[in-house]
Amino acid sequence: MRPALGNAGSYVHRGIIRAPAAYQTILFEVACICDDFPASHRHGTGPCMGWCDQTCQAYRPVLLDRTSVAWEALLAEASRVAWPEHFACDLFRDWQLLTQDNAPNAFVWALRRLGTDLLRADHSNVSWQAVLAGHHPEALWYVWGGGRLQMVTAAQAGRCLASSDRGQPRH
Ligand SMILES: [Zn+2]
Ligand SMILES: [Zn+2]
Repeated sequence: MRPALGNAGSYVHRGIIRAPAAYQTILFEVACICDDFPASHRHGTGPCMGWCDQTCQAYRPVLLDRTSVAWEALLAEASRVAWPEHFACDLFRDWQLLTQDNAPNAFVWALRRLGTDLLRADHSNVSWQAVLAGHHPEALWYVWGGGRLQMVTAAQAGRCLASSDRGQPRH
């Protein structure tokens, strides 16, 4: 498969994004435009065996043609920590959410050895955050707000979600 160019200077090769900037060293899978990951596609030819009802005949990577300050902060931190070691495809889901027009401007983010979790402050579920923290004691927790990413403890992350729950209308 020929590498697919993204406008940030990254390219996709066999479903793995490689970011050339020195601080962006984490590799992650990029989904097909059908929203399934490359493993659901047979060698680039169809039919896709994923969740798209086999309407997809080949893996066509999403062009990573959007970015945001929040996304770049997460990508830089994932690169610095070198997590997730596996299931880094979660970073693609973070990219999808954080570069859309109605991206959340406040959220809690868990960076785990085997994936990530992003909890929107406006859709927060404090008990789910506690479950995640209990199941993943190794997780690093962050709060995004006011344009900056701050590392916090798991308990502080839970308190942040609880306070935003009281202060903001639920959607
Ligand atoms: Zn597909
Ligand atoms: Zn598919």
